[in-house]
Amino acid sequence: MSDIKTPALAPDGERKIDWARRNMPVLNVILAENRAVKPFAGVKIALSVHLEAKTAYLCRVLAELGAEMHVTGCNPLSTQDDVAAALAAGGLDVHAHRGETPEEYTRHLTAVLEARPNIVIDDGGDLVSLLHGKLRHLLPDVWGGCEETTTGVHRLRAMAADGSLAFPVIAVNDADCKHLFDNRYGTGQSVWDGINRTTNLIVAGKTVVVAGYGWCGRGIALRARGFGARVVVTEIDPVKALEAAMDGYDVMPMSAAAARGDVFVTATGCADVITAEHFPLLRDGAVLCNAGHFNVEINMTDLESLAVSSFDARQNIKGYTFADGRTAFVLAEGRLVNLASGDGHPAEIMDMSFSIQALSAMYLAENRASLKPGVIAVPREIDEKVARLKLQADGLSIDALTDKQKAYLGL
Ligand code: NAD
Ligand code: SAH
Repeated sequence: MSDIKTPALAPDGERKIDWARRNMPVLNVILAENRAVKPFAGVKIALSVHLEAKTAYLCRVLAELGAEMHVTGCNPLSTQDDVAAALAAGGLDVHAHRGETPEEYTRHLTAVLEARPNIVIDDGGDLVSLLHGKLRHLLPDVWGGCEETTTGVHRLRAMAADGSLAFPVIAVNDADCKHLFDNRYGTGQSVWDGINRTTNLIVAGKTVVVAGYGWCGRGIALRARGFGARVVVTEIDPVKALEAAMDGYDVMPMSAAAARGDVFVTATGCADVITAEHFPLLRDGAVLCNAGHFNVEINMTDLESLAVSSFDARQNIKGYTFADGRTAFVLAEGRLVNLASGDGHPAEIMDMSFSIQALSAMYLAENRASLKPGVIAVPREIDEKVARLKLQADGLSIDALTDKQKAYLGL
């Protein structure tokens, strides 16, 4: 039985899911192509992904393709209660609510795993991690999994390297049609949507410090520049740092950037990016937020111990005042600002990411007999199919090689 907070919110959630559906044309084609075949008939899927409207629509599609769905969120602050209510009202098994405690969060992950899934769809690796720990006894039912994000794939690679990963997991994040668009343009837009709606402050003319110039950082920096900010990038990888410099950004260590920034956005997937070393250097009024997977990029323990007082400045903004009178403001408790204080990536972006998810889950179901435990790449055909469907949906067409060109290229 579902465990959600406010069933009466279902009609609001239903409207959000319908809006997502209208803006997810690629997933709709995949649904139409496979509806009759029901590739997931008799298959149980446990899913732990930010539980908002686009995710809900993915769950609906998987259910229409035959799957028995058991759904939870992947972050205590990103679940939208109206969406969870709508999914549960539609008959899916849903365990999540916004603001759940760490114990409730784990209870919800456990509940979807206790349904004995054959496929697990993870965002960050929490389901896989429980299955390899306290819930090992459920492993025999699991054929494999799909992982949505960079940090989750890193965790899986570490498990595969030490020989502990017990089943195949498809690295959805590493598909081109995922990270090229989702991590870069999705995060680029939704992080600024989250910051802007939370702060209601101007970006133009400010100095924005972006920590990490990977896929997410590139998008965040690009859109900051678009808003008219001066952009500073911090990195630990010399090649990425050089790329940032050649893209026209200032590059420096955080110890130098700390005194320069008006707004800081971390997107490294690392810990302790902004710490006690940096807080004393911040300008009065500096705004700090995170776009990376875990809430460890801004060291909140350091901040809390350095601050002499703290207060709620605005919804999802907490002010921390230091002994010298300066105040720093942290958005969404240092959790991913685009999801904890926004609706996450736009529907058209999640359309591609979740189409890769749906096709990867189908691939897993079809090939389960031959796939070995480990981290598996998304087959190239899936990437190309999603790209072609997206081009088609956008009314774009491309050239095809002639026979003469193929011969010239030796194909
Ligand atoms: P990536 O590996 O492409 O980029 C991370 C970058 O950070 C790398 O260039 C790395 O060199 C740099 N870095 C690492 N430690 C650093 C440090 N201490 N200081 C400065 N730079 C450092 O990864 P990505 O795909 O950009 O993802 C980054 C994080 O964002 C991951 O945790 C990922 O799970 C998460 N993510 C969030 C969203 C979202 O919606 N907010 C979307 C996709 C990914
Ligand atoms: N489990 C992590 C989440 C990592 S967030 C946590 O601690 O919260 C990064 C992932 O969120 C990305 O890979 C992206 O695909 C996904 N995401 C972004 N916007 C989303 C949305 N609107 N709905 C569902 N997932 C979204």
